[in-house]
Amino acid sequence: MARMSGVRADAVAKVPNFEEIRTAGAAIRDRVLSNLDAYLFQFEQAAQARGVIVHWAETGTDVNRIVRDIAQQNGVKKIIKSKSMLGEESSLNHYLQEAGLDVRETDLGEYILQISGETPSHIIAPAIHKSKEDVGELFERVHQMPRKHTIPEMCREARMMLRPHFLSADMGISGANFLIAETGSVVIVTNEGNGRMTTTMPRIHVAITGIEKVIPTLEDLSVLLRLLTRSATGQATSNYISMLTGVRGPNDSDGPEQMHVVIVDNHRTELLASDMREALRCIRCGACMNHCPVYEVIGGHTYGWVYPGPIGSVLTPSYVGLEKAGELPNASTLCGACAVVCPVKIPLPDLMRKLREKSFERKLRPASERLSMRLWGYVAARPKLYALATKLGARMLQWMGGEDKLIHKLPGGLKEWTNGRDMPAPSGKTFRELYAEKKAVGK
Ligand code: SF4
Repeated sequence: MARMSGVRADAVAKVPNFEEIRTAGAAIRDRVLSNLDAYLFQFEQAAQARGVIVHWAETGTDVNRIVRDIAQQNGVKKIIKSKSMLGEESSLNHYLQEAGLDVRETDLGEYILQISGETPSHIIAPAIHKSKEDVGELFERVHQMPRKHTIPEMCREARMMLRPHFLSADMGISGANFLIAETGSVVIVTNEGNGRMTTTMPRIHVAITGIEKVIPTLEDLSVLLRLLTRSATGQATSNYISMLTGVRGPNDSDGPEQMHVVIVDNHRTELLASDMREALRCIRCGACMNHCPVYEVIGGHTYGWVYPGPIGSVLTPSYVGLEKAGELPNASTLCGACAVVCPVKIPLPDLMRKLREKSFERKLRPASERLSMRLWGYVAARPKLYALATKLGARMLQWMGGEDKLIHKLPGGLKEWTNGRDMPAPSGKTFRELYAEKKAVGK
């Protein structure tokens, strides 16, 4: 993570007007969100004029059904896929495999996860939780080939395994970083080139993407690309930026005979109509998780659904409900680092705070927690009582630490804290006492 934040800082430092570009990027995304229906309609018209078939999906289940139907109606047997977070939202791979289709991930990180049976832990670096040694051992076991020890050797081996699938697939599925309303283009930003092969080699290309990904013009794209690649990987530009506009023409040397774009709602209009709509500005750069001290410690899988990190703590409860994911907005120190680096200025800490308030108002927090917060509020509003209570608490914790000064088991609702580790016992003095002591000796 430190490396990711370091390269972003270097890249941003080279662009003196980066703050102005951030403001422009946020304004573009807000303009889109205020006129979403009009831009989506414009995109549909422009894409259809270039031979693209546009589908509208309300839910993840609809996405899966539409993609399966396209495959079955065209006699598809093998599908290659480049990275798509929406595919993760709807568990598309699993659904297509159940329908008897052979689906192969082609992004290196996604390929590693597919053969290890795992889910992504980061939105742009899906296998970031795996070490080089983990991947070497996995490839040796799955590929049945001698162990490789360097990253270039492993990349070569993955390329060798994937190449036959690129050549034999009937259909390619991709996500989309942006949809351009004025031209009807699907834009894909990648570093590996697999996206370009997935979208141009098979006879059918299906792009699946959320309704919020549309932007008005190519000029707007140039602003957002400057923000996206620098914020994501610290690159001035990524290795491949593909603009896919329509099906293969009579004089084109490559490209699909059929192109489909599946535009998906899956709770996004609910988010749009709520006081959390700023979250839809997101351009999926991953910078918020790269700079989040909580993500750094707990990793992406702990967030429990597709989107980890601060944006996941906002999107997941908004998409699957606060009842199911109400813990996530609490998985933050509210240090503000995510908002500082977000290229489209999403006020992530404010949104997490709003979700905490909603959770409180709807009484979704456990009764014991609400009671203890009320008790704490009562004591904290009375300075003398507060001083007495903290003094007693500090002495009690010191006593519980015993001779080894470690608390092995906290009581009641606090016991989770010591389930997996011991808590170092405090000195027995309150902050006020320590502060007074230090002040007395002039420190
Ligand atoms: S919330 Fe901002 S920083 Fe996080 S992924 Fe989205 S655009 Fe990037």
